Amino acid sequence: MDDLLIRGGLVVDGTGVPGRPADVVVSGERITTVESSWRGDARRTIDARDRIVAPGFIDIHTHSDFTLPVNPRAESKVRQGVTTEVVGNCGFSAAPVLPGMAAMLGDYLAASAPALTFRETTFARYLDEFPPTAVNTIMQVGHNTLRLMTMGMDRRAPTRSERAHMEALLIEALEAGAMGLSSGLFTAPGSYAEPDEIVGLARVLARHEARYASHVRDEADGVFDAVREAIAVAEATGVHVQIGHLKLSGTAGWGGAAKLLGEIDAARRRGVPVDCDQYPYDTATNPLRNLLPSWVQEGGLPAMLERLAQPAIRARIRADVARSGLNNFGAIPSWDAVRIAVSPTLPDEAGQTIGVLARRRGVDPLDVVSDVVVADRGATRILITSMAEADVDAITGAPWVLVGSDENAREAHGVTGRGKPHPRAYGTFARVLGRCVRERGLLTLPQAIFKMTGGAAAALGLTDRGVLAPGAWADITIFDPLTIADQATYDDPHRYAAGVSTVVVNGTVVIDGGAHTGALPGRVLRFRGGAAA
Ligand SMILES: [Zn+2]
Repeated sequence: MDDLLIRGGLVVDGTGVPGRPADVVVSGERITTVESSWRGDARRTIDARDRIVAPGFIDIHTHSDFTLPVNPRAESKVRQGVTTEVVGNCGFSAAPVLPGMAAMLGDYLAASAPALTFRETTFARYLDEFPPTAVNTIMQVGHNTLRLMTMGMDRRAPTRSERAHMEALLIEALEAGAMGLSSGLFTAPGSYAEPDEIVGLARVLARHEARYASHVRDEADGVFDAVREAIAVAEATGVHVQIGHLKLSGTAGWGGAAKLLGEIDAARRRGVPVDCDQYPYDTATNPLRNLLPSWVQEGGLPAMLERLAQPAIRARIRADVARSGLNNFGAIPSWDAVRIAVSPTLPDEAGQTIGVLARRRGVDPLDVVSDVVVADRGATRILITSMAEADVDAITGAPWVLVGSDENAREAHGVTGRGKPHPRAYGTFARVLGRCVRERGLLTLPQAIFKMTGGAAAALGLTDRGVLAPGAWADITIFDPLTIADQATYDDPHRYAAGVSTVVVNGTVVIDGGAHTGALPGRVLRFRGGAAA
């Protein structure tokens, strides 16, 4: 007898084709049958009438490696229907950590991973010790982490032996099962790397049939050149390139989405292996210190704090920002576009804008920024509304742009439920299906599901996830197309999405009648030769 029968739903199978009425049968960890009016029995039957039955969603760009060890139930994600998360993005990974380097990496990631304890580890040991979680995880090693382990926050090119050291650490991670390398070229120390440093590492990726994901060098005035740099890595090495959280940040570039999408689409049509993903919000989130010019962080934390105490340096920062906008984000309409998200020194100001804080204190907004960075050694995180809604909609509406939350698996209680982080942690996938499909008609439902499932699986080289078909892993999401919606807002972010009734991961029910069962059936998907083992 089979284990699970999902009966009477409208199956949207993840390939992009229209839905069809069918039953889905699961035995063990795999789907055995997808056919209408299946005649047979199973240990458990789930009634899916009036619901969509889809492959589990793949969140192709996340930072849940920073929270899954403390929130293994992956509440905010799995309640949206997410069954697989790609972690280690934007150049940040929690491994490897060389002897004596744990505190330095912890300081560096204080505004991103406040809940995580950093320990000395190899990448292999990190994967071996990764805890059981509700969702599957795909691991990447971060270029910023490799550079920190090799040359700290030095603002220069690596020597020949430093390059060899980074390559050796990369190979160790790939041999342990990492899918590939991520970069964060927007912020120090990734921003100190010239393009040839990345191409050199991508040649190592090519030899291992591994992949490359990039938070590109500039998402504001230089976004076209930055996207071209990423595409050039794919052209030079043949490595698949994933451009993370595609956006046009800063008022000067608003309105450019169609042109930017056109460039990437043209590369894809030439056969260049490049994909991109997006979260459907006009607001980004980042450590506050990353709004400052990247030279401020040169040499590491003590050097940064010493610099920010000097009036002359603050004047130089002011001049830089006046000339070229905020690092990575460009020009913003006002300092009321930046609000405190999570802050150890200003916990009661979560949600408050830098503009309000500056007026209240009677000082320049850049002095508020510098003072806060100094007060908590760079650990404050902010939200920044830096995109135009029309650009966001245009990118969401492109059927080939995949969906990535760029956020952590959080829960409404406990250490990951503090402050006012970006609501995309709780809402991304439900927002695409509710707001973007049902309310605004930016996409059809099969198109949107393809972006979250079959399209993402193809970009990752997964052949047996992301589709509902006999033989595939039983990652399944059942939702009501009339009620699925994001409920998390900037003011009230810790709210789970509505409308998802059942989520199955590797054949085990994790969300049952909208409630978490506590099951942790996720696996770390280890990659070898370009495929998940
Ligand atoms: Zn990023």
